[in-house]
Amino acid sequence: MTENVDTSHVHPPKRSSEPFQALVMPVERASTVIFDDLEAFERRAERLYDGFSYGLYGTPTSRQLEDHIAALEGATRALVVSSGMAAIALSTLAVCKGGDRVLMPWSLYGPARDMADRLLRPLGIEAVCYDPRLDAGVGPLIDQRTRLVWVESPGSATFEVQDVPAIVAAAHRAGALVAADNTWASHVLFRPLEHGVDIAMQALSKHAGGHGDLLMGSVAVRDEALFRRLKDTARFLGYGVSPEDCALCERGLMTLPLRMRHAAATAEAIMDWLSTRSEVAQILHPSRRDHPGHTVWKRDFAGSAGVFSIVLRPEFQRLQSEALSRMRLFRLGASWGGVHSLVAVSDPRKGRTDLEWLRPGPVWRLSIGLETVGDLKDDLAKAFEHFADHVLTPVAATE
Ligand SMILES: *Cc1c(COP(=O)(O)O)cnc(C)c1O
Repeated sequence: MTENVDTSHVHPPKRSSEPFQALVMPVERASTVIFDDLEAFERRAERLYDGFSYGLYGTPTSRQLEDHIAALEGATRALVVSSGMAAIALSTLAVCKGGDRVLMPWSLYGPARDMADRLLRPLGIEAVCYDPRLDAGVGPLIDQRTRLVWVESPGSATFEVQDVPAIVAAAHRAGALVAADNTWASHVLFRPLEHGVDIAMQALSKHAGGHGDLLMGSVAVRDEALFRRLKDTARFLGYGVSPEDCALCERGLMTLPLRMRHAAATAEAIMDWLSTRSEVAQILHPSRRDHPGHTVWKRDFAGSAGVFSIVLRPEFQRLQSEALSRMRLFRLGASWGGVHSLVAVSDPRKGRTDLEWLRPGPVWRLSIGLETVGDLKDDLAKAFEHFADHVLTPVAATE
């Protein structure tokens, strides 16, 4: 070896050219991408949308995940970014500029509505909240300045189902695009682009990641110009993803349909049981026949997800904390769609005027994991026992 010893530490022997094939996609890390000659280097900007020019703009690993998501969504193009929230911000900022208007349903993911107040408004983008039950009636709210209409069906926490094709028709008639936060259903249960939506967004952190250890979001489109606007905006915002995270997401995708079917079947059994319990005033899941969105959900969705809310009797409000800590399997935490069951407590009535149909009482959002029906029922029963021990009226009998 003639090189200085320091030099040889940074220049390992040339890699074998023998082909290596594995079942799973390789993780290829890079910030720097190298070029064979000056001409290729100088023309690297041409490789932004398809080739490789710099790690931030795509690696073979991230591109493979994007191609996979595009195929699953029935899209021509997809982009993965660092979180679901990043995908919401990206979609909005790629489409709207100062002076434009964006419509968001009350039921949209909470932090997205905060973004509307604290990031979009100062930029001169006006966000108007609409009632998710308006469906085709959203038309009159879409004025000439409206560039984008968000939908989320069913909505976060309260699970209102939106008539997405009707909203798409109204938006397109007025020249606005539609973006769907499809995190609850994922592409497995609902493919927004097939219903006319322009941007199909999902938080891959939830069902796709599936194990509570991944943050990622995706947007999928069928329009090349729109894709390029999204890609450019992602570049200007400096959004990139780690190849390790992409590989983790790919691993999650392999079992996604199975996990979702299993969690949904478990959730149905748990909801049947909950519907016999007097502690529960209301179950919010579109698969329930008494849910106001049941018919549209049946028309548009290929199945059910294991995420829903329950409204408890109002007198349990002050007993919630102790009841929650009696459970061992349902852990208290934001997020959902993973192998571990979770419970999240929030008050969806805050800032909303359209919840007259919601019974009074604490709202628990449950995400059903891969534990058994019996064990999960026993766990919830422990929380309910705490209520029974502390209220004067008997709760054991069905109302
Ligand atoms: C979790 C979630 C998001 C945000 O995803 P993150 O990856 O956590 O940023 C967006 N929309 C919905 C409906 C969600 O549940």
